[in-house]
Amino acid sequence: TILVSEELTPAMLGEVPTDKLRAMVSVKGSSNSHVAILARAMGIPTVMGAVDLPYAQLDGKDLIVDGYRGLLFSNPNDELREQYNAIYEEEQALAEDLEGLIHQPAETLDGHRIPLWVNTGLITDALRSRDRGAEGVGLYRTEVPFMMKDRFPSESEQQEIYREQLETFSPDPVTMRTLDIGGDKALTYFPINEANPFLGWRGIRVTLDHPEIFLVQVRAMMKASEGLNNLRIMLPMVSNVSEVDTALHLIYRAHVETLEEGFNVEMPQVGVMIEVPAAVYQISDLAQRVDFLSVGSNDLTQYLLAVDRNNPRVADLYQAFHPGVLQALKRIVDEARAEGKPVSVCGELAGNPMGAVLLMAMGYDCLSMNATNLPKVKSVLRGISREWAENLLNEVITMESGEVIASTLQLMLEKAGFGRIIGPNVGA
Ligand code: PEP
Ligand code: MG
Repeated sequence: TILVSEELTPAMLGEVPTDKLRAMVSVKGSSNSHVAILARAMGIPTVMGAVDLPYAQLDGKDLIVDGYRGLLFSNPNDELREQYNAIYEEEQALAEDLEGLIHQPAETLDGHRIPLWVNTGLITDALRSRDRGAEGVGLYRTEVPFMMKDRFPSESEQQEIYREQLETFSPDPVTMRTLDIGGDKALTYFPINEANPFLGWRGIRVTLDHPEIFLVQVRAMMKASEGLNNLRIMLPMVSNVSEVDTALHLIYRAHVETLEEGFNVEMPQVGVMIEVPAAVYQISDLAQRVDFLSVGSNDLTQYLLAVDRNNPRVADLYQAFHPGVLQALKRIVDEARAEGKPVSVCGELAGNPMGAVLLMAMGYDCLSMNATNLPKVKSVLRGISREWAENLLNEVITMESGEVIASTLQLMLEKAGFGRIIGPNVGA
């Protein structure tokens, strides 16, 4: 079945039996929308932002969905079918080849090792990620299970959900992000209506205004980690140091309460997401307060470029390799290193093989990505040297145009023999 809809929601992904779902098409949204990120994690080809699509007329028709190029063909002729069958078989063969890498480390030809972690949300992601050789979870999007419910899950319900994640990856670390709703992530039972939702009440802004939601969640996480102690807590959408101070205060309080209730849990590591431009200029102030930093490049790109990640009309302007974005990413890692704090990237850029090469060259300590792309990224990193990646970074970081940077990266990786892995136009 191909699911065609005016608007896709994360809840829909939870309802449709995934073994029957082969592709998805949505009139609204873009490839950076949250539902697109979840679909990518599930390995389901998806086309978003098909603005003028007469979607109501497609019922029962044969369709081809090309998720690489964002194309949809209805009633394809034999020639096109054959062409896409060949691409599909090639993809299957590549996936089988990459399976051999599961137990191999992500290490460059000159011996530089960079841990590859995974982003999760649904429990199926977690199981799939384990099978794909992830060494930890760099981002567990806790809002996903909240979106699947019709009311706030209780502390004990949350504890059970989090325990499953922590157990699946134990002894490897699991980074749980506190509830990140707002923007394009809505809870039906907690409506937020705003003119500019991405500039509004999002992420930590909501949970600090509702400390009862924050405390319940953090306590549930801590209780779930008893005996495993592989929990890390991460704060989304931070734009002021005072938010970190208040959140840390609440986290310490939750820890004390959890101990008082008789749970024997260690204080987890706490980290801050860097996804708002102001945070880029306060890396050292933020780093001094926490144990780690993680760059949310999806939002950072949207805010640096002033391009709504969910709006198909400006999707062409959302350039992952925009020079301004690359300069910001470089600055973040340099400043975090100066403070001696580990820094990772958990936005989609880390799971783009071309992005991963640049981030590794910049000096990021760890990359966290969707399970689908992890074997591809590992294969590319194992096939290059760090020196080669640094030369490539030095070359592209001086360029003026994101489009030129993306096509240069595409060309260089194709030349190095990775054309089959990166596929067509992945940077676009
Ligand atoms: C990001 O913004 O890059 C990120 C990882 O968070 P999300 O995509 O869930 O907003
Ligand atoms: Mg974000």
